[in-house]
Amino acid sequence: MTRRIGGHVSTAGGLQNAIENTIAIGGNCMQIFAGSPRMWARTPYPTKVAEAFREQSMIRDLRPIYIHALYLTNLASDNAELLEKSKKALIMDMTNGAAIGAAGVILHIGSHQGRGWRVVKDQVITVIKEVLDATPNGSVLILENSAGQKGKIGSLPELADIFSAVTSDRLKICLDTAHAFEAGYNFVTEAGLEMWVKDIEKYIGWDKLDVLHLNDSKTPLGSAHDMHQNIGDGYIGSEGLKRLINHPRLASLPLLLEVPGIEGTGPDKENIDRVKKICKN
Ligand SMILES: [Zn+2]
Ligand SMILES: [Zn+2]
Repeated sequence: MTRRIGGHVSTAGGLQNAIENTIAIGGNCMQIFAGSPRMWARTPYPTKVAEAFREQSMIRDLRPIYIHALYLTNLASDNAELLEKSKKALIMDMTNGAAIGAAGVILHIGSHQGRGWRVVKDQVITVIKEVLDATPNGSVLILENSAGQKGKIGSLPELADIFSAVTSDRLKICLDTAHAFEAGYNFVTEAGLEMWVKDIEKYIGWDKLDVLHLNDSKTPLGSAHDMHQNIGDGYIGSEGLKRLINHPRLASLPLLLEVPGIEGTGPDKENIDRVKKICKN
């Protein structure tokens, strides 16, 4: 098995536990939160903790590691205080990411709250530039596609706007399969998958696409409603996911699961096993 497959795992009880949690579910890469996802407070990892984690993850070959930014972040907010908090938390996540040798920090850009993308575009671009300027050279910011919910930024054309304004090899993309399906990409069919791949090439480019969030969808095609389902149990289904992860253009990307889990405990061994079964490399 050469493919990198893992999931979002808990760091409860200490960063080191993410390693055990990943091994327990049979993963060989991972995603974590570098603090509570629903609280602004962020502290730097103590150097010893970061170094031990980095070393253990290498020894046990659990790479790459991704940090998911907190959910409160909104780079498009018109509230100056919230925007400042978003920036600060993101900078801390990226700094912590660099300390543990993470491949990047995955971010939901936020919501324009009905004002429209054109109104907030310049602000979002400026903030992204500021964050990149304020963070270590080894850190990477990874923007995630949205499910097409009203106001949520992250369609492929919107992401393309950002990339045409920010030229940095420290800015990348994570595509979430549930979000793309919910946003209307019917990659369950071969023709639909080709359309999605074409749009990725047109709007993003292969050098920018770094990782896939591999989730089935609990809501139908084009629902614009973000709800993840266990692999094979949702509207995408295992045939659709199988074709997708093995597409020549996508077959080398790490796969990170953010599924509810059979017992509702998050990405588990059963879901990872289901992916291993449909993965050809
Ligand atoms: Zn995701
Ligand atoms: Zn989601």
